[in-house]
This record gives sequence, structure tokens and C-alpha cells, in this order.
Amino acid sequence: MQHDTDTMPGTGSGTAHEADAAGRAAGPEGLVAALAAIKQRRPAYGALVDLFTDLLREQAVLAETFAAEAPTPELPDPERWRQGVFLLADVDLSAHAEPLGRAFDALLPVLGASFGLEREMDVLRAARAGQQESAAKGGSTATDATAPQPDLPLLAHACLDGHAKPLEDAGAALGVEPSTLALAVRSALAPVLAGWARANGPRFAARNWTQGYCPFCGSPPAVATLSRIENPRGENLVGGGGKKHLHCSLCGHEWAFRRDACPACGNTDHDRREVLFAEDARHERIEACSACSSYLLCVDLREVDGDLSMEAVPLGLVHLDVIAREKALAPMAVMPWTVLDPALDPVLDPAPDPAPDEK
Ligand SMILES: [Zn+2]
Ligand SMILES: [Zn+2]
Repeated sequence: MQHDTDTMPGTGSGTAHEADAAGRAAGPEGLVAALAAIKQRRPAYGALVDLFTDLLREQAVLAETFAAEAPTPELPDPERWRQGVFLLADVDLSAHAEPLGRAFDALLPVLGASFGLEREMDVLRAARAGQQESAAKGGSTATDATAPQPDLPLLAHACLDGHAKPLEDAGAALGVEPSTLALAVRSALAPVLAGWARANGPRFAARNWTQGYCPFCGSPPAVATLSRIENPRGENLVGGGGKKHLHCSLCGHEWAFRRDACPACGNTDHDRREVLFAEDARHERIEACSACSSYLLCVDLREVDGDLSMEAVPLGLVHLDVIAREKALAPMAVMPWTVLDPALDPVLDPAPDPAPDEK
């Protein structure tokens, strides 16, 4: 591992591509190809990639559908935007229960089969079936006290806002672990929001958003990229490098962010920010902040051939998560594979109380 501050010069040549500034491959096919490429490049990740392939592919299929039928949310007023109020903070998700339910129903079997959660997912499926039957009979879905039913818009907002209580209550009523319920709800919410974000992304991008969390859904970034140089004469280059973009861990929206600050705490102190990378893969970096003890992984797209599927990219960087973990750093976003991978679980699942016997 090499150390550097965030001034590592980019070469802007070599394997760099000039074709696609975002370096992004769209759709389920691009995603599946990207996952296969990760397995080829890092065979040790084969089992982990296989574990998540069905889920990520199904989510990509759903996101395409939802993008085609996405609503056009009102942009918030410029003052609230400047204050850092993300767009969905003001949106009532109950108006979007239908796509959320569709995604939930489609993903329950995938989650059950992929992660050995068949029993839990069957419970949720039965609850949903009762809910739909009740709705079909013209009854109110909220008044049938005999069968507990998941209020998906409410639970989705709990996931967005980081409120554990609604998930705990619903989990207890349904007989499913809150963390498992959260996994199912977040998994369903992701493609719904990804569809919206994809359809409306240019509208958000036109407004200057300066926060380190997603302007659309408020989630932290999963990964950062330094963009390729589309038009070297038109770019305002800093240290020979590309522009930094953050990629949302939930909806996949990407937004520009300053290079000289920590997205989590805004720290700009050069001495308390550090970049770590392996000599044989200098384009894949850990960007660490000692002010808030967090890190974000960053890929320099100028050093990468071909298009990337940003949904797949973090799965190919798990070795960097391990290194960051050894340095007692916390990820800005906890991704499902870092929760479910036992090797990563102890550190990436933030423990609120002191662990007396951490081995
Ligand atoms: Zn987002
Ligand atoms: Zn920080």
C-alpha cells in the first residue's frame, strides 16, 4: 500500500479512454458483463459475485422498467436546495406504493434463494398476498388486524431517513428480523429510485449541489470516480486530474463533488486526509479521512479501459474495504455484501456499543 494525499497526478494517457466521461455501461447486460469481468480479474471474488449476481441483475431489469414510467418530481426551491435538503425528503412515497410493491414482490424470491432467507421471504410474501387480497376485496389495507402487513412506503421512508423504529415494529409484527426486513425493503426501493434518478438525473445535475450525500434520495455515496477527460481544452483541470463524482449507494445517481473535501464531514485539512492504493492498481484508491474516521473508495476512470457498471464496481474492490477495516475506518455507506460477507461483517457493521470481546 502506498500513501499519498489527494494530489496524486493523473497521467491522462496510457490506457485512458476519451469516449465516455461517465464511463458507465447501462442496463442489465452491461452489469452482467461487468460482474463477469470482476470474476475474471479477481477470481477470489467469484463466490461473492455469484451471490449477488441474481439480485443486481433483477434490480437492473426493474430499474429500466421504472425509468420508462418514472414520475417527474418537483424540484425543491433553490433556498432549500442550497441548505442541503435532498429531493425525496419532501416526497410522500405513499403515492408510489404500486411500483414499490411490484419491486418487493419481484425481489423476495431472489433474496430468499440467494441468501438462504427462504423462510423470511415466504413470510413477507404471504403478508403481501394477504394485503393484495384485502385490497382486491375493496377493503382498507390498514384495517385488517388479523394479518400484519408491511406498509412499504412507510418502511421505505424509514430506510431513507435512517429510522430503525418502524422497521423494528414491523419486523416484530411479521416475525422477521428487522435487518432482514430492511434488506428486503431497501432492495425493492433501490430500483424504484434508480428509475426515477435515471429519468430525472439531468434535471438535478443542472443545479449546483454541494453536499456529500445524494441530492435525490439523501443516501451516502458507495464509491467515487475521477472522470475521463472528454474535452481537455474545456475542462478546468486540477493537478492534471479529472472531476470527482460521487455515486449514490441506493439510487445510483451520480453528482459532482469537490476533490479537496471529505464527503462525510466536509474536512478539507490536507493533513487529515489520506489516499491509499496498491502499486499495481493505482487507479483504485482508498480515500480516508481521519477527522471522521471514514473512507470512500475511488476509481480513476482515466486509467480504466472500457465502460464500467457502477453498480458492479464496489464488488470488485472488497480487498480495499478489508484494508480500510484494518485501519479502523468505517465506510460511508454500508453495502449489502459488506454486511453479508462474514469476513467484513465485524467492522463494516458499525457497532454502537463498545465490543468487549472483539477478535
Ligand atoms: Zn440516491
Ligand atoms: Zn471526514
